Amino acid sequence: MTDRVPPEALAQLGYARSLLKRHSAERSEPAHVAAEMAREDARFVLLAGDVPVLARRGEGATALLDREAGARSVAGTALYLGRADDRPVIARAAPAEAADFFRDDPDFEVLDLRSIAVQGRVPAEELGLLATAKSLLAWHARHGFCANCGKPTAMSCGGYRRDCAACGTEHFPRTDPVVIMLVTRGDRCLLGRQARFVANSYSCLAGFLEPGETIEDAVRREVFEEAGITVGKVDYLASQPWPFVSSLMIGCRGEAETETITLDRAELEDGRWFTRDEVRRMLAREHPDGLITPPPMAIAHTLMRAFVAE
Ligand SMILES: [Zn+2]
Repeated sequence: MTDRVPPEALAQLGYARSLLKRHSAERSEPAHVAAEMAREDARFVLLAGDVPVLARRGEGATALLDREAGARSVAGTALYLGRADDRPVIARAAPAEAADFFRDDPDFEVLDLRSIAVQGRVPAEELGLLATAKSLLAWHARHGFCANCGKPTAMSCGGYRRDCAACGTEHFPRTDPVVIMLVTRGDRCLLGRQARFVANSYSCLAGFLEPGETIEDAVRREVFEEAGITVGKVDYLASQPWPFVSSLMIGCRGEAETETITLDRAELEDGRWFTRDEVRRMLAREHPDGLITPPPMAIAHTLMRAFVAE
């Protein structure tokens, strides 16, 4: 269904493109991983706490640091992510204080991953790789013990698995699926805002998928719970890794079968129907009431662009 999304909108979607070639078959070989990580031309994605360290490059920056810069701080966990441009990529965790080593150095900058995407500080193909690094490192930081028997676990497969020697359980990094949907009724769509949103910003409804639930049913359940609207047909449009901490946003389009909105005030501060023309003005930041959409890097923006382009 992705042909319903304008290519220029997809191109701006953050974290959705990655330079990474994961080499998932080879990474189960410890000797291969060790050899890759020892290579002189390996590059490093360094996170101080959960904040990436970037190397300045002209007007922009890159998240791929050379070995010297990657080794410059007291480093913690190191993972073998795979290769980018045929060179090994290692994700490395450093304590949050390590950001101070780089902050005052004009060759580097320290910026949170959301701002990096919004500002386009690194090439778009590096955002996916940064998302992998951030989600994986966060998983390791929280999964040092076996959920089955409580004993310590050890990293394997370059960091794409943790094994428990005591009970033999293999633990895999999690990805949490979230449905996010633009619900339409003829020439109008349903948008809402949560109290935590930036002022005047309206977005698509969203919610976590539950175990044993299809994407379609999750869309219908969330829209009914949050807005009291019954949704019929659901189509998939696009998806987006969302590394806060490790979600996958599944972008859908849903057709409303009812019209009267009953808001769940615990979830939404406001919600209503918007005409296509109104959404067009919001995207262009020309709405007469100053209403706006999430930025182009967010999949809600992509879904709205697809609706407006019809
Ligand atoms: Zn165990």
